[in-house]
Amino acid sequence: MKNIMFIAPPAAGKGTQAELVVKKYHIPHISTGDILREISKEDSEIGNYVAETLASGKLVKDEITYQLIENRLKKDDCKNGFIIDGFPRNLEQAVQYDKILSKLGFDVGHVILIDIDEKNLEKRIVGRRICEDCNAIYNINDEKSSPQVESVCDKCGGKLYQRTDDNLESFQTRYQMYREKTEPIIKYYKNKNVLETVNGDDTVENVFHKIETIISK
Ligand code: AMP
Repeated sequence: MKNIMFIAPPAAGKGTQAELVVKKYHIPHISTGDILREISKEDSEIGNYVAETLASGKLVKDEITYQLIENRLKKDDCKNGFIIDGFPRNLEQAVQYDKILSKLGFDVGHVILIDIDEKNLEKRIVGRRICEDCNAIYNINDEKSSPQVESVCDKCGGKLYQRTDDNLESFQTRYQMYREKTEPIIKYYKNKNVLETVNGDDTVENVFHKIETIISK
């Protein structure tokens, strides 16, 4: 099984797609956003710094992400493939990621861009809700993705919450960050001939089907 990387603007559905990949292929899902949200709960200097940065929509310092990625990839469960989402987020991180991968004897694998336009993203962002226990993702603005009972996770009964950065103001910053910092890495992987693009403006099932086709090539 090849490793998988998702690149996508905020709220394009990469978390939802990653969940489906994990379920089908039984590989770990490494999301720097999820790891950072855990760190942000810590009552420490770094916890406070991460919490503030996340709420502002800006990126946390590169050095913090390198350490957490390397430590995570060293774990045994990554040996048979993993899906990475939210990293790399700028060109420097992409270059450093190549170094971390070669140090650990891994390949970058499939680099999948989930492409979707800005107006659709805005609609998704304000309706997104996440389970505080299992991280399942819902969207209350979309009938098919709404939980059956308001604010309760269908999968585990956990309470649903809205991310502090899921508001229009923070979205604008995150989207601008994406355009500025992440788009150069799209070019970087295109030049390496490993980039594959999927149109994310479709149902969850259809997007997953397109991703499966790439993965099973
Ligand atoms: P995400 O869950 O991927 O949307 O990430 C949420 C937030 O976590 C981002 O807006 C950043 O503040 C931070 N973050 C996640 N991944 C990275 C990264 N690779 N580099 C810097 N900051 C990150």
